[in-house]
Amino acid sequence: MTAPDGPDEIEAGSDPRRSVQRRVFVVGAGIMGSGIAAQCALAGYPVTLEDVNEEFARRGLANAARALDHAVQRGTVAAGDRAAAAARIEAAIGLRRVDSAQVVIEAAPENLAMKRELFREIEAAAQPTALLASNTSSLPITSIAQDLKEPSRLVGLHFFNPVLQMALVELIPGHTTRPEVVDDARRFAESLGKTVVTSRDTPGFVTTRALAVLVNEAAWMLYEGVASKEDIDTAYKLGFHHPMGPFELADLVGLDTALAILDVLWDGFRDPRYRACPLLRTMVAARKLGRKTGEGFYAYPAKGPGG
Ligand code: NAD
Repeated sequence: MTAPDGPDEIEAGSDPRRSVQRRVFVVGAGIMGSGIAAQCALAGYPVTLEDVNEEFARRGLANAARALDHAVQRGTVAAGDRAAAAARIEAAIGLRRVDSAQVVIEAAPENLAMKRELFREIEAAAQPTALLASNTSSLPITSIAQDLKEPSRLVGLHFFNPVLQMALVELIPGHTTRPEVVDDARRFAESLGKTVVTSRDTPGFVTTRALAVLVNEAAWMLYEGVASKEDIDTAYKLGFHHPMGPFELADLVGLDTALAILDVLWDGFRDPRYRACPLLRTMVAARKLGRKTGEGFYAYPAKGPGG
């Protein structure tokens, strides 16, 4: 992994002394939005972390702080850097302050209609030169951008969970994304210390396509009674050196997100490889979404304050 170069700067006018640091606006303060906010703040960017209401925005802010705490506990971030990063993140409700940002990263739920509508609103309100990126894990960037006045502005920047621990960012140019937007997105991701791989704009890109099949196959094996979830997880971990089993991973990702991804792959390819196991659909209907709801394939007892 290359060392971060520090935050990108943009010049205000032609006077280099007036160069200002780019503000990052993160849309959606869930699992990914809070991690992306923490990562950007750690790299020195001022960050606005937005959600639909105050409760969700505050929860996102608390989760960003928690991610930074874990990094201190792991010894990858100094306590002073943690405090400075946390101070750079502010919470917001709705898109009103999106015009203050030079980088907008959308991390709202994996829903094409929602992302299209969000980017229509973002494009109308954001600075005309702001970098517009979606953290979608499976939806084609070209489809998300299709209703924009300038679809060439949108690019995919796919972070991984947990953001502070995962070195990779997948860069996805849409079919019409301008090369300078792609270059800007790459430089931005590298300024966060990430290693960037580029994927063509096909459903699931590289990583999500691989992940979806892995989780779905494990769910089918459980559904068919081939083995218990614990044994399947152990088999993947000890047999393939995976750091987590597929059910532990599904609980971390969120079963709703995992199912939405499989449906995107099914819609995009019409290939039975991507036919979601009914077990996933039942668990999502029962709101057993994984860690974020306290139960998925495994149970996650609520932590007390400070836990
Ligand atoms: P999440 O459900 O944890 O968070 C989504 C957040 O968006 C919620 O807080 C929700 O209140 C908010 N939201 C809903 N409607 C909104 C709106 N109109 N405007 C602003 N915010 C809104 O989901 P997540 O796991 O963080 O996933 C977000 C995106 O990141 C998805 O596109 C997903 O595919 C992608 N992604 C997820 C993972 C993962 O492991 N979970 C990994 C990589 C990428």
